[in-house]
Parts: sequence; structure tokens; C-alpha cells
Amino acid sequence: MKKTHSIIAACAGLVIALTGGLVVGNWRTAEATSKQPQFARPNSLSYARPAADDLTRYGVLGDNKTLAKISTDLAACRAALKAAGVSFNLVPAKSQGACGYGEALEVKASLASFTPNPGAPDELPMTCDLAARLHMWERHIVIPAAEKYLGSPVVDIKAFGTFQCRTVAGVDRLSEHSFAKAADIAGFVLADGREISVLEDYYGKGAKGDFLREIRQRACDLFDVTLGPDYNEDHANHFHLDVGGQHACR
Ligand SMILES: [Zn+2]
Repeated sequence: MKKTHSIIAACAGLVIALTGGLVVGNWRTAEATSKQPQFARPNSLSYARPAADDLTRYGVLGDNKTLAKISTDLAACRAALKAAGVSFNLVPAKSQGACGYGEALEVKASLASFTPNPGAPDELPMTCDLAARLHMWERHIVIPAAEKYLGSPVVDIKAFGTFQCRTVAGVDRLSEHSFAKAADIAGFVLADGREISVLEDYYGKGAKGDFLREIRQRACDLFDVTLGPDYNEDHANHFHLDVGGQHACR
């Protein structure tokens, strides 16, 4: 008991010695009388606010703003693609019955190439919004996941197609492919030459399967609709990624 008291006394003495006693008293008085805010507010000009359309940033506060901006501001979307290092050609507007698009582009070079799967149409027109989200998926999800699981980055993304005037399978509604707002991804080629196929590898127990399942799941954060082999037989050989405004992640 006596020992405890002497320890408390010693501690109290130390606190008084360190703070100077009087300072503690003054601080309490100041708190009671001051009209000044107790916390310094950060000056909004003192740090760089990330641009709302910087495709090279992801997983940070502001992702939603970036996605909203590239969806609603075509000029900002194209500028953002260029600033991220994506080269592309603009494609003339197209009208084909109920299908078509007012604006579209073809990606010429990104971090990886984006090319037709053997037998797929040569042209892969897509809206700027879709291209920007594909770039973010490639940059922030696909390439890092390939390095993580397979030890080699992706250098080519194979697509079955983007634009096609057709209805959703089994439903009387036009597919987002009808407006160049959807891409069907068939597989990937790595820098070391290995190929990864959604059809062959999605359910594999090894690294290729882990890679495909992770990038399919995380695509849901970027695209309005993400569908893959888990959804149905029609998607056994590709990921359907679209920016049509409906929502699904399966
Ligand atoms: Zn599709």
C-alpha cells in the first residue's frame, strides 16, 4: 500500500515537473474562454487535390468521382485516356437500325494491347467510358494480379468483340453490345508468352484460375455489369463487361 502511494506520488511529481503544473492550469482556462477553434483546419490549398479524371489513381478517395466524370463528360474522358498514355483513334458515329453509337474509339495502344481473339471481328469500337474503365481494370487490377499470381504482366487482352447489334440471349432487350458499351474478354497473353483462357482456366485450381477469378470479381467495382462463367453457360468462355447502367456482378 505504502509502496503504491509512493509510486503515485512519484508519477504525479514527474507529470508536474514535465508540464510545469501552471501550464496545465492555463490550458484548462484557455479551453474554457477561447473563442478560437481548438483544431487547426487544413488549408484546402496546401495539398494537391487529385484530379477527378486521373485514371492512373485507383483505390483512393475519389474513385466514384472519377467514374462519374468519365461517364458524363466526353471531353474529360478522352483527355483522361490520353493523359494516362492510351492512344486511340476516334470512330465515326454509327446507326444500324435500333443499334449504333454517337461516339466511339478504338484503342491502339495501352499498357497491354487490346486485340480481337482469333476469328473475332477486326474492329473493336467502344464508347470512351468503356475504354476508360477497361484501362483502369487493366492498369490497376489485371496487370497487378497477373504479376501477383503468375509472376509476369499481361501484354495482350483478347476480346471476342465489342459492338454487335443483338438482343440479350433469351430476352427481348437489346444488349449493351448494340451500343458499343460492352466488351467480351476471352483471355490474356503474358509477357513470358503464356496464354490464359477464360474457357480453359477459369475453374482451374492453379494460379491461372486464381488470377481469372480475382480479376472477374474486382471488375464489378468498375463496370456496371460483370458476367462470367459463374453466371451461365453463355459466358463459359468470356467475361462480359459493360457500362450500360444496369447492375450485375455474377
Ligand atoms: Zn457480352
